[in-house]
Amino acid sequence: MDLHLSGRVAVVTGASRGIGLAVTRALAEEGARVVAGARTLTPDLRALVAASGGAVRALSVDLSTQEAADRLVGEAVSAFGGVDVLVNNVGGVRPRMGGFLSITDEQWTWGLDVNLLVAVRATRAALPHLKAGSNIVNVSTVMSFLADPDVYDYTAGKAALSNFSKALSKEVGPKGVRVNTVSPGPVETELWTREDGIAPTVVRAVGVDQEAFLKEMASRMVTGRFTKAEEVADVVLFLASDRAANVHGSDFSIDGGMITTM
Ligand code: NAP
Repeated sequence: MDLHLSGRVAVVTGASRGIGLAVTRALAEEGARVVAGARTLTPDLRALVAASGGAVRALSVDLSTQEAADRLVGEAVSAFGGVDVLVNNVGGVRPRMGGFLSITDEQWTWGLDVNLLVAVRATRAALPHLKAGSNIVNVSTVMSFLADPDVYDYTAGKAALSNFSKALSKEVGPKGVRVNTVSPGPVETELWTREDGIAPTVVRAVGVDQEAFLKEMASRMVTGRFTKAEEVADVVLFLASDRAANVHGSDFSIDGGMITTM
């Protein structure tokens, strides 16, 4: 299926690794022009830029300020003449294993900022450039509707992101701008395995074996495995394409059947 993304201009946040990198790569493979933002320009992202012949540009930005979001979107406008697709992919989770009373305002603020306000800022920067036929895809999580006391600030931030996404779709839909959300279940990325990631944090707190923990987590999926970042990217690209021209204000789960309700 031709997604008609060739020549379209996309801005992807959190593009240095994991899902954001997979989305950036998939967009480039479809012939889109991409401005990719993250704090770190990883070797993988640099390699993608180098191989793209100018179609992918990467910017080192900490999207915890409006100025950085404006700069990221501004790069797309000045280099490629506008923005057709915004993929709000930045997010972060730090398991808080000490219970609700152990969580400080600072920790709440971090979780709400990275999971909600980063997307709000990028949307604020991009919206004036989004013409009829353009769209926004927000990367949320199934945890936005599966509340979990080990990740209070993550689930609250993502629930707010999904709610924001729906509300925005009502405002901008009549102007021809679509807004949708992708909600993955566990995805095979470093978010799970790096030193301050989910698995090592839980392993340290409850003293289980990391391999056993990840195996148990995989068994929660009906398919018996984590989703791959590339599989999430495929859903994001479909929503970003005009093949999904009347898909609007929707939330698509990709979770290997982890959610057992209809
Ligand atoms: P990841 O590997 O931790 O990647 C997160 C990305 O966000 C990185 O590129 C990171 O780059 C960037 N980032 C974080 N803070 C930033 C900031 N202040 N400014 C700019 N960039 C920032 O995570 P992932 O697993 O790919 O997850 C991507 C999205 O999917 C997140 O929203 C996550 O919540 C969601 N999700 C993931 C899973 C999963 O199981 N992996 C499941 C459901 C939903 P730098 O650190 O270089 O800035």
